[in-house]
Amino acid sequence: MINIVLFGKPGAGKGTQAEFLKEKYNLTHLSTGDIFRFNIKNNTELGKLAKTYMDKGDLVPDEVTIKMLQSEVDKNPHSAGFLFDGFPRTLAQAAALDVFLESKGQEVTATVGIEANDEILIQRLLERGKTSGRPDDQDEEKIRNRYQEYNEKTAPLMNYYKQQGKFFEVDGIGTILEVTQRLSSVIDKL
Ligand code: AMP
Repeated sequence: MINIVLFGKPGAGKGTQAEFLKEKYNLTHLSTGDIFRFNIKNNTELGKLAKTYMDKGDLVPDEVTIKMLQSEVDKNPHSAGFLFDGFPRTLAQAAALDVFLESKGQEVTATVGIEANDEILIQRLLERGKTSGRPDDQDEEKIRNRYQEYNEKTAPLMNYYKQQGKFFEVDGIGTILEVTQRLSSVIDKL
């Protein structure tokens, strides 16, 4: 069983790459952003709460996010492994994930960061915002806030996993296929 965490700033291509990797490695893809958006669309209590943070580009509080993620993992008891996309995003989430997986006799196998330059990514997101309908992709100020959240709260996680020998990095600039191949070459060696 392998459990992979994909890291990358907004727009780096985590979701796009996850679509390919989940097929290739038979993993259950869990995107916390997608799950929040599904809840917003269905107007659930969780969705209403998450929306107040997401629309500003802020992170949703840890307690809510961790509980949601755990319940999604529990919905897939026969999974051959998970591909976590957009989770963990804080040290508290990473610590909770470790404890949670350990309670199931599992662990994070590896984390892979998809690297790309901020200015390229911001342009990509603004472009995506024209068709995605996502309010957090349409306003440069919100996008910059998401980057600030990433730098302050998520970037320190790389060290957390580096210390455990579980952090790898690939260049996120190139064609979708090129980036998939770079990610695959990391995963194939695990
Ligand atoms: P994403 O689709 O991964 O870019 O996530 C969109 C938004 O959902 C983020 O800007 C956050 O507001 C929220 N979100 C997604 N994942 C998390 C997480 N692990 N912790 C807190 N907020 C999250």
